Amino acid sequence: MLSFNPTEEQEALIEMASRFTKERIIPIAAACDQESRFPEDVFKAAWELGLVNSTVPEEYGGAGMGELDNSLIAEQLAYGCTGIQTSMLANTLALTPILLGGSEEQKKKYLGMLTEAPLFASYCTTEPSGGSDVAGLKTRFEKQGDKYVLNGEKCWITNASFASFFVVFATSDPTMRHKGIAAFIVDKDSDGLRVGKHEDKMGQRASDTAAVHFENVAVPAENLLAPAGAGFKLAMETFNQTRPDIGAMATGLMQRCVDESLAYAKERHSFGQAIIEHQMVQAMIADMAISCEATRLLYQKAAWNLDNGVRSPIVSSYAKAFGADRAMQTAIDAVQVFGGNGYVKDYPVEKLMRDAKVLQIYEGTSQIQRMVIARSLARL
Ligand SMILES: Cc1cc2nc3c(=O)[nH]c(=O)nc-3n(C[C@H](O)[C@H](O)[C@H](O)COP(=O)(O)OP(=O)(O)OC[C@H]3O[C@@H](n4cnc5c(N)ncnc54)[C@H](O)[C@@H]3O)c2cc1C
Repeated sequence: MLSFNPTEEQEALIEMASRFTKERIIPIAAACDQESRFPEDVFKAAWELGLVNSTVPEEYGGAGMGELDNSLIAEQLAYGCTGIQTSMLANTLALTPILLGGSEEQKKKYLGMLTEAPLFASYCTTEPSGGSDVAGLKTRFEKQGDKYVLNGEKCWITNASFASFFVVFATSDPTMRHKGIAAFIVDKDSDGLRVGKHEDKMGQRASDTAAVHFENVAVPAENLLAPAGAGFKLAMETFNQTRPDIGAMATGLMQRCVDESLAYAKERHSFGQAIIEHQMVQAMIADMAISCEATRLLYQKAAWNLDNGVRSPIVSSYAKAFGADRAMQTAIDAVQVFGGNGYVKDYPVEKLMRDAKVLQIYEGTSQIQRMVIARSLARL
């Protein structure tokens, strides 16, 4: 039987996340955006409520929630600010490869760290030479006795300035492409590891983003997460799990666009009537609502599939690509509904438009999602 009804537990979770967003995120979102500042106290409060690291199983101190539960939280937090939300939920990107490929010791140690204290972890595939072509990464590892030594540079790493550890993808030989890629867990205090400057971004400015440099960084053998040849698959499986969350974030952002646009269109008058009475304004708002609801269905199906063992990377990519592209258009239309007022920081929609853009870029661009989808359809 098909059901679109959340369980009682999910309703309670949505209600808690929504209340948290209204009380803790919305009031500070504009200031954090302008100051390009991540509110660590908000992260701590969310951690105490169990709104972060939600997919960590109970045996490692987590709540053991499913991917759908995690995405439902993401939608609610994103309604308040996708910048704050991205940094709040980025641990999921770092802990998923540990959940998928980690040894029992690695799970106990590193998942345990995240559930015992409000700490951050980062996920590192992207490099200055390129992010889309993961198989082309150049950060090198070399086995030296009982340890691995890493050299290279990662960029655009979410929460790098705060992370206690990094999940790092590196290669034994770049010419081997995906066959040479391994994954490691690297502690932030490792000698030779240096975090670069916080990036001054267009949108999602409350989220921390920085480069990470590795110069002869020694990683103990027990921190090998995936051996050469298995790292690429682990990175792709991780994205399969986390891409529905981007659909959820897009949904939250679009719902905010709908609500802000409706409220404004009922107040603002032109030609002697509220602009909501103009059919062309109605059409823009109706399109926003269609996009929002369609993305909601897609991300929920993708997440439900993950929770129920239905393998469907293509649906994860549908949710990510459709959600990101529709969120961008929806935010552009929200600015249009606001007219000149949409173009200034006194109103919330210009931030929504800046924030939406990166949804089409990180965790695989919209073009890369289409490549994944077309290859899957054509069985290439
Ligand atoms: C705010 C932010 C946070 C991020 N957080 C992280 C993080 O935590 N960890 C991490 O590892 N990375 C992170 N990234 C990096 C992100 O995943 C990459 O920016 C993204 O994968 C694109 O890589 P690129 O920027 O190198 O673009 P490129 O790969 O250089 O692509 C440039 C353009 O070419 C297109 N293109 C490339 N190849 C193809 C192709 N085969 N077919 C069609 N078009 C193609 C792309 O779609 C894009 O439009 C983050 C980025 C941002 C902006």
